[in-house]
Amino acid sequence: MYYDINQDISEISKRFEEDGITFKDKTILVTGGAGFLGSWVCDVLVKQGAYCICIDNLTSGSTKNILHLMDEPNFRFLNHDISQPIFFGLSHHPDGICVGDIKKLDIVMHMASRASPFEFKDHPISILKSNTLGTMNALGIAKAHNAIFFYTSTSEVYGNPPDDAIPTSESYYGHVNPVGPRSCYDESKRAGEAFIKAYELQHKMRTKIVRIFNTSGPRIRHGPEYGRVIPNFINQALNDQDITVFGNGSQTRSFTYVIDEIEGFLKMVYKDEAIGEVINLGNDKEYTILELAKIIIKLTDSNSKISFKPLPIDDPRRRCPDLSKAKRILEWEPKTPLKEGLKRTIAWFKDKYDWEKNE
Ligand code: UDP
Repeated sequence: MYYDINQDISEISKRFEEDGITFKDKTILVTGGAGFLGSWVCDVLVKQGAYCICIDNLTSGSTKNILHLMDEPNFRFLNHDISQPIFFGLSHHPDGICVGDIKKLDIVMHMASRASPFEFKDHPISILKSNTLGTMNALGIAKAHNAIFFYTSTSEVYGNPPDDAIPTSESYYGHVNPVGPRSCYDESKRAGEAFIKAYELQHKMRTKIVRIFNTSGPRIRHGPEYGRVIPNFINQALNDQDITVFGNGSQTRSFTYVIDEIEGFLKMVYKDEAIGEVINLGNDKEYTILELAKIIIKLTDSNSKISFKPLPIDDPRRRCPDLSKAKRILEWEPKTPLKEGLKRTIAWFKDKYDWEKNE
């Protein structure tokens, strides 16, 4: 099966057409726009006729994800680390670099941050900075332009919830280790949310926070050093290597296919009803990691065996969102079944191997 990303992007646009959602002529800043989710957002916005400015320092994002957009007149790439100040619409500022010709931003989407637990031990400081200093800088930009501010937070703000908090609603405060191996991510996302609420309170800004649950699909980073479960298992299965299940595989996750997640983000950005809200976006069908391994072995027709490895410290036991708020406020729910999303992701992986061989 050959994977065509344009079909997926068109599917999102079609859903927007049906719902009367458009970003035409809006000027939108996307931090982390060269990353997995950020680049999907840029693709959809460019297709919609928005003027999309992508900021990325390319430490975890990649130009490969946005190369095809570089010649588009309504796309602009700035190689910049958002944890350092940057000013739009000013020709000079003593505290940071300036992008003088962008006079008015309508929307700021702050999406920059590494998100793979495998990277938390090597890059904890830059993760903390992008979600605290980066959030503050992005809020400052939105404030100066009276722009809507959208932040991609995470289900990790809930940490390791007990069974009676599954499915987890936005009103659950969390069970998070502040000094554990995941704390650079979990706690900085929590701090990012607190920054946003402070700016909303003090400066009356229009803000929106999404809490993302496990999402995957084409463009997800896939080297063994990133180690997210779906790309890892697909890589292993396609190469007939052992599938590394951590612990006994009874921990659960719920997986969203990327186009559903991107549709949800942009619906939230668009809708006035989401102003001031925090909303879970994910899939509420829970799978154990062992089930996932078996599904991927079957879909790839692989000879891989399962091998069990130690469970990482503080690995959440269950994760599943309560989607009532997303359904009520955004009229959104995930549409792509797990197997269908996996099939498209596997097709993308296979295409990629073909290109690599041909290079
Ligand atoms: N996992 C696994 N094998 C792998 C990678 C991950 O069993 O090779 C497990 C991991 O321990 C966790 C789940 O899969 O329970 C999801 O891990 P991921 O790294 O995708 O992100 P998380 O949901 O923990 O943030």
